[in-house]
Amino acid sequence: MKKIALVTGASRGIGAATAKLLADKGYSVCVNFNKNTKAAERVVADILENGGEAISVQADVSNEVEVERLFNKIDDELGTITHLVNNAGILMPQCKLIDLSAERINHMFSTNVTSYFLCCKQAVKRMLSHNIAGAIVNVSSGAAQTGSPNEYVDYAASKGAIDTLTKGLAMEVAHHQIRVNGVRPGLIYTDMHADAGEPDRVDRLKSVLPLQRGGTVEEVAQAITWLLSDEASFTTGTMLNVSGGR
Ligand code: NAP
Repeated sequence: MKKIALVTGASRGIGAATAKLLADKGYSVCVNFNKNTKAAERVVADILENGGEAISVQADVSNEVEVERLFNKIDDELGTITHLVNNAGILMPQCKLIDLSAERINHMFSTNVTSYFLCCKQAVKRMLSHNIAGAIVNVSSGAAQTGSPNEYVDYAASKGAIDTLTKGLAMEVAHHQIRVNGVRPGLIYTDMHADAGEPDRVDRLKSVLPLQRGGTVEEVAQAITWLLSDEASFTTGTMLNVSGGR
């Protein structure tokens, strides 16, 4: 059966690496992005150059109408989705909880949490109606377990919600043979840290990790791809830490 995957937030970082690895493994891939059209087009061009199949689709995944448009486009251009990677996420400048505004908290949660619910909803609806034993991987964070005090408790709490979503949905759809798992990356070299005001964050903190180095996007992509694959066929409702031993 044709494997059709959506990777949200795949214009760069972990999402881009995952989209490329999935394409190498024979998946037809939808590269979703929000703002960076050129970067998403480069990811698709790389995949096509390597003989894979991919499209890029702009959609703000925190917006339900845009998510519906995104999934309809996948239906029309690639076919019915079989695999979903919820990866799009944001991190905002470091601050203590007492300095967080409702506006920031709501933006964080709509981007990092509502989006995962909306994409799960559209994917599961299609998997159920087409009797597809599909798989979903939600990208959480090691922050879900540390709480990220003094830096970004809002981000950490949004990722805690993803762990709970993963468990709950996995149990809800397991009898349909749909698997739902998650990864918790930690200290991965991407541009996300610069967006939060500290481009060198991984190098500042890497020595606290048992493996004493930062992780690469390819290492996270490998974990995501394994959880999506038939090799993980008896694994559901599980979170896999990809965080150097912490
Ligand atoms: P990144 O380099 O900042 O990339 C984020 C991606 O998300 C971009 O492609 C961006 O697209 C997309 N995006 C953001 N808001 C979006 C929206 N509303 N709709 C659609 N796409 C949106 O991030 P990353 O470091 O690769 O992180 C990927 C995931 O891993 C995130 O969920 C993050 O929380 C998690 N994570 C990362 C680390 C780490 O150390 N890097 C650690 C733990 C967890 P545009 O640029 O086109 O807007």
